Amino acid sequence: MPGFELFGDEERKEVNDVLETGVLFRYGFEPMRQGHWKARSFEEQLVKRLGASYCHLCATGTSALVTALVACGIGAGDEVIVPPFTFIATIEAVLAAGAVPVFAEIDETLCLDPQVLKTVITSRTRAILPVHMCGSMARIDDIGQICEQHGLILIEDACQSLGGSFNGKALGTFGKAGCFSFDPVKTVTCGEGGAVVTDDTAVYTHADAFTDHGHDHKGDDRGLEAHLILGTNFRISELNAAVGLAQLRKLDMMLDKQRQTKKIIKEALSQSDKIRFRHIPDPDGDTATFLSFFLPDESAALTAVNKFGEAGVDGCFNWYANNWHYIRHWDHLKQWRTAAKMPSQQTEHCPDYENLTLPQSDDIMRRTISMQIKLSWTVEQIEQRIAKMMDII
Ligand SMILES: *Cc1c(COP(=O)(O)O)cnc(C)c1O
Repeated sequence: MPGFELFGDEERKEVNDVLETGVLFRYGFEPMRQGHWKARSFEEQLVKRLGASYCHLCATGTSALVTALVACGIGAGDEVIVPPFTFIATIEAVLAAGAVPVFAEIDETLCLDPQVLKTVITSRTRAILPVHMCGSMARIDDIGQICEQHGLILIEDACQSLGGSFNGKALGTFGKAGCFSFDPVKTVTCGEGGAVVTDDTAVYTHADAFTDHGHDHKGDDRGLEAHLILGTNFRISELNAAVGLAQLRKLDMMLDKQRQTKKIIKEALSQSDKIRFRHIPDPDGDTATFLSFFLPDESAALTAVNKFGEAGVDGCFNWYANNWHYIRHWDHLKQWRTAAKMPSQQTEHCPDYENLTLPQSDDIMRRTISMQIKLSWTVEQIEQRIAKMMDII
């Protein structure tokens, strides 16, 4: 699944370019750089790959999400609709922007259900933030339409779905901004890194400035640059960007391999009448980092995951049981356990997450098993895996 499985000389060469010049900063130092602009090149390559107008790299995917929200003008008091099945980073980013996360149900795409989105829209809703979870897409066209109808901003969390598409258009390019992560377990890794992509010049300009203390990055004297806005430091280093640059060149090869492996396993498992697969709105655009399927009920799913573990079929998760990606065990969120008071806690509309019920999402998550697709598996390992899984199911 992640790029670190294929880490080699290509990454070392890019990093060495940076180490040889000693310029670890992404801006300036032109006389010393010997032509190496790793962050800038990564941005140019990603824009090309995705068919977007602009890309701005950030230190992490989480900071990319905060940057996208802020650059789209979302802040204090604004409500942002999010799914309960995601990485907590999505929620934390909304909170960090000063806005209020509002949860809506997922459907069998394992992403936001467009049908029920309307029921959580209020006069304070500013944006919808769908997450393309586990490598596949949300019903992004329907969600985009709802945004249009209600005058809401669409921001995509595509952190887990780099290289995915819907009807030929890259995930992350449907809304006003899209976000990617290059953390150590994502498809392409920088060690740590993230990106905001957008077609909107103003969003790009604000993202570029926000992540670097408001600098406008015009001219060649940092001390004389104008400060467009107040910002922060969410910069990526040249070292991290260098790793990602080498990784990005492997993206299509990685996607091909994952798709082949997933196809073989999916075809084999479809022989079982107990299994139903996650709905994927456009199967051709699936990145195939995971194979997600449903068993008839929670008990069947838990039993299967345990037996898979005992049989050495690793990388299978029931997200309802573990603490990772589903709201059920996010006690820190439910109890608003924060180091310091957050703006969202002080609004009169501060949500009561403890008493929030999401029956449709619960029902789906209970039955779901997601299995990581690894790049390093051999043909024999894939066959063994299938045989063991079929025995258990
Ligand atoms: C990984 C991830 C993030 C955050 O990315 P980091 O680079 O780890 O900060 C955000 N959203 C989702 C869905 C993710 O999987």
